[in-house]
Amino acid sequence: MTQPLVVFDNVVKHFGSYLAVERMNLEIYKGEFVAIMGSSGCGKTTTLRMLAGLDKPSEGEIRLNGERINDLYSWERETPLVWQNLALFPFLNVLENVEFGLRMRGMAKAERRKKALHWLERLGLEEFAARDISQLSGGQRQRVALARSLVTEPPILLLDEPLSALDANLSVRMQSVLTGLQKDLGITFVYVTHSQSEAFAMADRVVIMSRGRVEQIGSPQEVFLEPHNRFVAEFVGGKNILTGTVTGFDDAGLVHVGSEHGEFQARLPDGKSVAPGDLVTVCLSAEHIDLTAQPGRPNRLACTVVGEEFIGSMVNIHLEAGGGLELQVQKPHADYDRLGLHGGQQIFAEWDGARALILRGE
Ligand code: ATP
Repeated sequence: MTQPLVVFDNVVKHFGSYLAVERMNLEIYKGEFVAIMGSSGCGKTTTLRMLAGLDKPSEGEIRLNGERINDLYSWERETPLVWQNLALFPFLNVLENVEFGLRMRGMAKAERRKKALHWLERLGLEEFAARDISQLSGGQRQRVALARSLVTEPPILLLDEPLSALDANLSVRMQSVLTGLQKDLGITFVYVTHSQSEAFAMADRVVIMSRGRVEQIGSPQEVFLEPHNRFVAEFVGGKNILTGTVTGFDDAGLVHVGSEHGEFQARLPDGKSVAPGDLVTVCLSAEHIDLTAQPGRPNRLACTVVGEEFIGSMVNIHLEAGGGLELQVQKPHADYDRLGLHGGQQIFAEWDGARALILRGE
């Protein structure tokens, strides 16, 4: 089995009495693009700073290539960090900024210049070599910061919200620059972001954190399709949460759940078992619900249309199912137009039982 490049082994970080990271266990492999995501203050940056050597774990061990690095200073480990404000040196030009790390390592001028020019070229910046940093656009500065970190050819690059200062179009263009580089170089990226779309577009695996805890680690598809708990389901968005009590099982292998809104079927995730009488939380994706005046499936709810919002190529339809239960349904424009909905309309929401997932961690 391949050895992980990075291991967080029961890592805890306190700031005084405040617990910023709670017993983190995470393995990151060579060549992976891992995104750490979660809402503000959940401990993403602290996790990255501990890996970069800018904060020290209070407990546990961080290993790089099997070696404990807890006590190494940032400049003693090959874990460069690129962050949002880039921290480029304004008194050095583009080429000198890129050369800087090599100069600090004592590399001879001709050799470091050659390497720096190679990385400027690689990032499409050769024509800006002699420019001052203040004469560059946001996207160009971003690429200089990347070149400056990559020039030392580290095994891993840490990125803290590197695209958050860029406008939406540029950010999307930089996403493909980053993924292209990462795959070409086979280098490991650990990328902190609060943007789900960035993380899902770029990462091989995402780590979802809340209040210092890791809630789930998996591919973007896994966390979206099979969230482990209510926090992850709500964080990835587009999910409806239903609760009820297990009443039995059917021949199709589905669990029957009784709720104040009637009985419905749900699927068990691998590795979870339930018994009649157990309370369960069920997640149903907004895109898996159909709307109809004449329901034909056993899993249905009578609803009232309360509103809709346009989100790019899809429409979010908000429904009220009685007893305070709100549902959201997502449809492509063409389907939405065909439904011809209006506020206050009575309609049935229905779905296939196998689409409703019992949450493993609840
Ligand atoms: P954001 O997305 O807002 O940057 P984050 O998930 O990166 O948030 P962290 O910067 O890791 O969050 O901070 C986690 C928690 O630890 C926050 O509540 C923060 O206030 C606290 N914290 C971080 N650094 C320190 C520090 N040096 N001293 C005290 N508390 C700190």
